[in-house]
Amino acid sequence: MDSAVAEELKRYEPELIAIRHDIHRHPEVGFEEARTAKLVADRLRGWGVEVTEGIAKTGVVGTLRGKRPGQRAIGLRADLDALHIGEKTGREYASQVPGKMHACGHDGHTTMLLGAARYLAEHPDFSGAVHFIFQPAEEGLGGGRAMVEEGLFDRFPVDAVYGMHNMPGLPVGKFATRTGPFLAASDSWTVTFRGSGGHGGAGAHLATDPTIPLGHFVLALQAIIGRNVPAIETAVASIGHIAGGDFGSPNIIPSEIVVRGTSRSYKPAIRDLLQKRIAELAHSLAGAYGCTADVDYDRRYPPLVTHAEQTAISLAAASAVVGAANVIADAPPKTGSEDFSFMLEARPGGFMIIGNGVEPDGSFHNLHTPLYDFNDEILTLGAGYWVSLVQQELG
Ligand SMILES: [Zn+2]
Ligand SMILES: [Zn+2]
Repeated sequence: MDSAVAEELKRYEPELIAIRHDIHRHPEVGFEEARTAKLVADRLRGWGVEVTEGIAKTGVVGTLRGKRPGQRAIGLRADLDALHIGEKTGREYASQVPGKMHACGHDGHTTMLLGAARYLAEHPDFSGAVHFIFQPAEEGLGGGRAMVEEGLFDRFPVDAVYGMHNMPGLPVGKFATRTGPFLAASDSWTVTFRGSGGHGGAGAHLATDPTIPLGHFVLALQAIIGRNVPAIETAVASIGHIAGGDFGSPNIIPSEIVVRGTSRSYKPAIRDLLQKRIAELAHSLAGAYGCTADVDYDRRYPPLVTHAEQTAISLAAASAVVGAANVIADAPPKTGSEDFSFMLEARPGGFMIIGNGVEPDGSFHNLHTPLYDFNDEILTLGAGYWVSLVQQELG
């Protein structure tokens, strides 16, 4: 990166580390990030950034206008929430809240974006506007969706929006992204098969029995992957829960069986196909045996799909920070999911992975584990990437 930017960010580093540790000590889970949101809002205001609070409960947007006139605007997004995991790092700044910790590095994401806001507020050498988006509840509760539905991009119009996530196992100083499907759609579904039930011995021939369509459904589900999803595409469908029958009775045909599962996919068309075929199979198999089926398909997070133009800009921004040799342009898709995908459905944008580091023996503590910790070494690198992105987009 511009060495003047790097030097200036180094000057902020102790302050950024202190902010990160403060957030880390006080983890807050989805839609409960009141303290974290206030910390973010207070810091932004202190640096002269205009602040809007209370979007999707605890979301915060900071708006900064460049000193040069311009109509363009971009959004840079970080996430605020922690997880229901008990921390075991033994760090001096470890979580002070039993059973909750920042095990996905959102404390670091928030701090990197604050670092960029601080730098840009002091050096508003760009045209147009930057909106710093701090979203609540990334972990499963869809805070990103809530912000979009509450009119995020009507209130803060942007030409493009960018996200970033750290990745343990990728060395410090490396960045990675790709164009197109990057992270999976994550959906869950519940099928309830119903019949009359009956006496399993004396009246079996009089009963409609939901265990029969259930048995066919378990196998037919995998035929969706094998016979409906084109072989060059990727999809997963799995059953995680089956429940039926009362009190373990061996001789009573249940009147109801519940089966729950998850499905993952990378393309909207494949996701639609999974939803359609799961419902068709449930209904037709139930009908074939005189039963009925209720199907509840919960479209949770869509696939995260980046856009080509903004991915090229992301690559240029990261290359300016660490050199093109340290930026992976065609990272393989990952099976995780991210609710930044809702923002990418609403506006064009890019998504960058920043290396959180790896031990010399190749080991690392993964995201969502009790020994994971965000790496303070990358705070200024990440902040530098955001600054570089603003220079690319609005310079
Ligand atoms: Zn996570
Ligand atoms: Zn995360």
